[in-house]
Amino acid sequence: MKILLTHCDYIEYEKKKKAIESAEQTDTDKERVEECLVAFCSSEEGDDDSVAEKTADEIKKVAEQVHTKTIVVYPFVHLSSTPAKPAVALAMVIKIAESLKKDYEVHRSPFGWYKSFELKCKGHPLSELSREITSAAQEKIKLVNKEKKEKQDSRGKIILDRRNLTPNDHRILGEELGIFHLSEEVGAGLPLWLPNGETLRNILIQFMRQIEEKYGYRYVSTPHITRGHLYEKTGHLPYYKDSMYAPMDIDGEEYYLKPMNCPHHHMIYNKLVESYRDLPLRLAEPGMTYRNELSGVTYGLIRVRAFTQNDSHIYMTPDQLKEEFLGVLKLFKEVYAIVGIKDYWFRLALPDFKNNPDKYTGDPKEWAHACDEIRDAMKEFSTKFVEEEGEAAFYGPKIDVQIKNSLGKEETIATSQVDIVVPKRLGMFYIDANGDKKTPIIIHRAILGSYERFVAYLLEQTEGKLPVWLSPVQVKILSLTDRNSDAANRFCKLFVEKGIRAEADLRQNTVDYKIRDAEMQKTPYIIVIGDKEEANGTLAVRARGEKPRFGVSVEEFLAKITKEIENKQ
Ligand SMILES: [Zn+2]
Repeated sequence: MKILLTHCDYIEYEKKKKAIESAEQTDTDKERVEECLVAFCSSEEGDDDSVAEKTADEIKKVAEQVHTKTIVVYPFVHLSSTPAKPAVALAMVIKIAESLKKDYEVHRSPFGWYKSFELKCKGHPLSELSREITSAAQEKIKLVNKEKKEKQDSRGKIILDRRNLTPNDHRILGEELGIFHLSEEVGAGLPLWLPNGETLRNILIQFMRQIEEKYGYRYVSTPHITRGHLYEKTGHLPYYKDSMYAPMDIDGEEYYLKPMNCPHHHMIYNKLVESYRDLPLRLAEPGMTYRNELSGVTYGLIRVRAFTQNDSHIYMTPDQLKEEFLGVLKLFKEVYAIVGIKDYWFRLALPDFKNNPDKYTGDPKEWAHACDEIRDAMKEFSTKFVEEEGEAAFYGPKIDVQIKNSLGKEETIATSQVDIVVPKRLGMFYIDANGDKKTPIIIHRAILGSYERFVAYLLEQTEGKLPVWLSPVQVKILSLTDRNSDAANRFCKLFVEKGIRAEADLRQNTVDYKIRDAEMQKTPYIIVIGDKEEANGTLAVRARGEKPRFGVSVEEFLAKITKEIENKQ
């Protein structure tokens, strides 16, 4: 049953013509009702008595809220795409009207007619409401249909339909470059990293580790499941429950797949920190997390159910906040310059205590301090940012890093959030210089966001032409003929020994075919070894997008590529 409720100054309706043979006979053709709640009702397939009862209850609820004593039950088939048979629909409106009659003056517009009507809606916030009322059996059918549809959708996603995708879509490039694979057997939203993809992902992880350790971060590693007990303390249960997977029973207790790494890191804080001298503490982890996404909305590496965050938590005293936040901003800048994220800007999300005071927990004074400190840090860093009131998380202000994706759409690629609420909730503390117990502040931050999303971004931005230092295969060495296989192999081994990711293609295909193949893979360097190269000990080198150079010495090539890798080019 679908209903539309309108609180009116009046409604006037008039019978015009029979819509069905069995149209209801009434004494009057025309009626006007003043000051009333009009309930347009559209009965649907499968409606039963319980639906009539629930519908009457809903109408009563609204009538009470808008303080009216008069109700017009108006059969209106057009709200539904699966209407009930006329006899059933008529029985339903009669039942609803009967049930309402106990407490209200009820008018019923005749059933089965084309009617003209005019009404004047009052226009206040409750004057137009709609409801869908279903029986338990209908709910079940809906659920089954939804699951069926999701299953079909998820299959559709797994088998890549390229027709509507741009050529630089990361799903196409991911397949062509052997980066990731979505297997129906494994499930939607659970990407498998192929060897090339895992190489790329690992380079990024190692790169971040190196740079973060330079900034004083300490790496940790945490398990993928946790007692529900911890998530109750942090407040993730019940508030975050919809994004988490159903619990599993271990030793009679509920455990959850982790939706975030924070609670684990907080427990490490509790172990490591005693006094203010231990602060700031910067913990980092490429931590895999699991979020409940509907299979129908999962998409490549961008909307996934399992992903690895470039995660970190910085614990500090309140007076260290500005300095630590500045450190995060510097890290953003340094990393983005290297990985080639250019046109990004920051969005500072602040609370809106005036219009939405209940959204934010914690002490308003502490909120003001946190907001001032990070705004100061942003100004001192003289970075481009916009402020947005009302966008803060419930536990503190945050900044999002915004970019335009390859389709020109604004997207958040990374975030840094201040947390002044959860440390208190968890009873985290340190002893200050006066020997008093104090609560730390936390910054949650991810510079690259998740490695999955970042790889998608990288593939799309570069159209798959990854810089040399990030390319899973940096050099492809092709034998011109079968005779040259051993020599090609020897060169390949030499490069690998020098730390270069080289692969030999010794297949018996023509060299043109092999070049085309390596070009499809967008390999930065293609080297062909023929008789001449073998005899002279030189290389024929084809840099990506350029014409081949012959007679290049091994030393020259090695010096060039090594320098490019070192300079992260
Ligand atoms: Zn966190």
